[in-house]
Amino acid sequence: MSRKVYVAGKLVPAEQATVSVFDHGLLYGDGIFEGIRVYRRRVFLLKEHIDRLYESALAIRLVIPISPDEMTKAVEETVKANDIVDGYVRLVVTRGAGSLGLDIRRTREPQIIIIADTITMYPQAMYDNGMKLVTATTIRNHPGALSPRVKSLNYLNNILARIEGTDAGMEEALMLNHNGEVAECTGDNIFIVKNGVLKTPDSACGILEGITRNAIIRLAREAGITVEECVLTRHDIFVADECFLTGTAAEVIAIVSLDGRQIGAGKPGPITNDLLERFRRLTRSE
Ligand code: PMP
Repeated sequence: MSRKVYVAGKLVPAEQATVSVFDHGLLYGDGIFEGIRVYRRRVFLLKEHIDRLYESALAIRLVIPISPDEMTKAVEETVKANDIVDGYVRLVVTRGAGSLGLDIRRTREPQIIIIADTITMYPQAMYDNGMKLVTATTIRNHPGALSPRVKSLNYLNNILARIEGTDAGMEEALMLNHNGEVAECTGDNIFIVKNGVLKTPDSACGILEGITRNAIIRLAREAGITVEECVLTRHDIFVADECFLTGTAAEVIAIVSLDGRQIGAGKPGPITNDLLERFRRLTRSE
């Protein structure tokens, strides 16, 4: 079956799904996006993703030409048209095509693109044994320049840090903020466990407020675990009992070392494993 992509208001065969070379999403990275999972044909935490998309739009003064309800339906229709059972949705809204120049008044209609596809996860061995991290020298965008809370189409900040991770032979890299505090990884949020308390950087630390992060905070609190959103430094990670990342694609994955320092027992810890199990249960029920 040919893949169908939603573009310019309708579903078209993937080969015909094209956008203009004058689209400001391409020319300037002017746009926003969401990455969403489908589990057992259901689009997971879709409301949360739609809400974050419209908040990103508000922050960059992009008026999405359809309502959140219409967007929700368009995502669901695209998943159905592609017969996706377990997969991934990429929802993109660009400023649209216009003449050259940064003035947003030079663009016409924002462009909405929805791609529903299969997903490639990290290898199972990484979930079994945990993942190693390095700290990137590239810091996360200063919130006063471009807030990391906006899930924008300009991912160069993260890509530059990810190159450093790849050069070190790793699948992810830790990014600090402009104060030298822990922010997040290039495409995932970070948590530690210390003396039974779950800790993660506060959204004021310059992070994307992950949908998976928020789900894990909720699940942990429901399980009676104390959760603190606070400032963390690399030192806090070195001396943590457990550490893990969260993200739509990664779900929950243990981190067993940072910059050559073993974290905790050097293998996925009991709270990490418990939260992964609770999260997987949520993906089956929500
Ligand atoms: N931080 C960044 C920079 C991201 O791009 C992502 C999404 N890949 C995350 C965190 C995790 O967010 P979510 O749980 O919503 O996927």
